[in-house]
Amino acid sequence: MLDSDIRKFIAAMPKAEVHIHLEGSIAPETVLELARRNNRLDKLPVSDVEGLRKWYTFTDFPHFVTVYVAIMGMLQKPEDFALVVYEHGADMARQNIRYREVTFTPYLHLGWEDKGLTIADLLGGIEEGRQRARREFGVEIRWVFDVPRNANFPDPNSAENYNPAPSELTLEAALAGRQVGVVGFGLGGYEVNCPPEPFAHVFGPAKRAGLLSVPHAGETEGPASIWGSLKELGADRIGHGVRAIEDPALLDELKKRDIPLEINPTSNICLHVHESYAAHPFRKLDEMGLTVTVNSDDPPLFNTTLTQEYEVLAEHFGYDRAGLARIARNAYRVAGVEEDVKTRLLAEFDSWVSANI
Ligand SMILES: [Zn+2]
Repeated sequence: MLDSDIRKFIAAMPKAEVHIHLEGSIAPETVLELARRNNRLDKLPVSDVEGLRKWYTFTDFPHFVTVYVAIMGMLQKPEDFALVVYEHGADMARQNIRYREVTFTPYLHLGWEDKGLTIADLLGGIEEGRQRARREFGVEIRWVFDVPRNANFPDPNSAENYNPAPSELTLEAALAGRQVGVVGFGLGGYEVNCPPEPFAHVFGPAKRAGLLSVPHAGETEGPASIWGSLKELGADRIGHGVRAIEDPALLDELKKRDIPLEINPTSNICLHVHESYAAHPFRKLDEMGLTVTVNSDDPPLFNTTLTQEYEVLAEHFGYDRAGLARIARNAYRVAGVEEDVKTRLLAEFDSWVSANI
């Protein structure tokens, strides 16, 4: 058990997070509110918060996908997006998270299901929520728009017949979104049979437009997915990346080029990337000199929070206050936010640490 002093330290520390999905972080209460607004209560298996919380609980990957798809279906109108982004900001305030780089998947709302929404509708909705969150809570949100890799491969059992349309629509949204805080371009979803290489045609233009390349890799697939992301997508950070531990040459490369990893320990346990915290390589990767960050991925779906992920570092990986603060600082350091905002956030963080360590 953790002592209460370290819990208080974690709760009070001004945190930053660079790997969390907007659609995967909507609280059950908000999903119900959206279902009521949009007359979609019949699309949920239960109609009370407790029941929904139980249904959310991770059991296996197919169930996770079912829940994710149902949640996505609740987001129908620009004001729905404004609400979930505002609620996201409220959650940041509750957990003392000063900065979040949030992954959003426009294609799921534009092309995967026809909701009658345009790119401008989505950008307008999320920007309204972001501004309101900033005004009321003083929190900073920036965006990573990501391509749902599986949408580009019509056959789930084969990496043949790549369809560029979802990627291109995502690129168009991300380039337009630079006006409202998009700082990164990502690649999400299930890696098996969805290698990174075919996506080079959208990552090139995204990088040239000033966006960070932040693909998920080395989670459900091994080192080859990370190598491909480095070589073909010009990855600036790797989402997850934990399976780099299987390849010493890759570890050297990530260290030499100082490519940060966005690690999500509890998500990895739920998805059986690693079977237990004891088997998780977080600390090993850190001790090897790689830049690691800790994140919550899809917090209510994995029954976690960013605060709890820091508690995992303390309880299971043996981090003390100085170690926790060093990991927390990495998240600010690797963020894609404008340099002046980063400098201000880092100064606030450093002065808090020097007063509290
Ligand atoms: Zn993720």
